[in-house]
Amino acid sequence: MKSKLSTSMALLVMISTILTSGVEAKKVETAEKIPVLAYHHIIKEDYIKKTHQENNQSTLSLEDFEKQMQYLYENKFYIASMDELEKFLDGKISLPKKTVVISFDDGYLSNRYQAYPILKRYKFNAELFMITSVLDHSKNTAYNEMKIQFLRTDDLKAMSDVFKYGSHTNDMHRGVENNLPLFVTSPREDVKKDLLKSREILKTRYFAYPSGCHNPDVIQELKNTGYTMAFTISPGYVTKTQDKYVLPRFNISYQKVGMKGFEDIVNGRAN
Ligand SMILES: [Zn+2]
Repeated sequence: MKSKLSTSMALLVMISTILTSGVEAKKVETAEKIPVLAYHHIIKEDYIKKTHQENNQSTLSLEDFEKQMQYLYENKFYIASMDELEKFLDGKISLPKKTVVISFDDGYLSNRYQAYPILKRYKFNAELFMITSVLDHSKNTAYNEMKIQFLRTDDLKAMSDVFKYGSHTNDMHRGVENNLPLFVTSPREDVKKDLLKSREILKTRYFAYPSGCHNPDVIQELKNTGYTMAFTISPGYVTKTQDKYVLPRFNISYQKVGMKGFEDIVNGRAN
């Protein structure tokens, strides 16, 4: 009897050890911090040189973008959507350790002709933070890599299998005073109208600050108008303890990051 009991005790201990280690192993593999990548304009390296954009913080070469997406694909990164990131922040879901979120700002036409086919090839998804007032500015012009052109309403529809659309203001990205965006220099009532307008067009709850600029007043207006997450361009990882209205992102631009820098960012070594 005694030996039977100790045998079953030993079995129990064994089972619980296996269970515990199983749980622990699972815990280790989930993400504690997630990099959100911020891209803007993507053009061929040749054109970056021709148009002297080597130091432009908003431009990345197509060649670099291709290499970066290939790296994420080959190394089996999980590309989370903004909805999933929000659920992660709310403690509703766990995400794999190797999780990355991809975002684009402004709404350049190059996103359709350069970035979109690559993202689609790898079955990746991304959030595109659009300045809604520039939609259709380039309506009747052909795509020209040498020019700055913006997405059209039709493009948004055509790319909806890859992109979801967030707000980057309706028309408050422009700077008037000291180059600061209208978003942080305008009366609160105007900010509210602008936020409601872009929300109505895009049906989104997510926002990216123009040039990363924010203050307590605009954060309050974001809350009042139903937005639930907002992103800066201050480098850093998104963790569960962060304020959902001041979430960091890594801006990825030509020559500033490089492949080694990119690998450090997505593998959690950039801070
Ligand atoms: Zn922007």
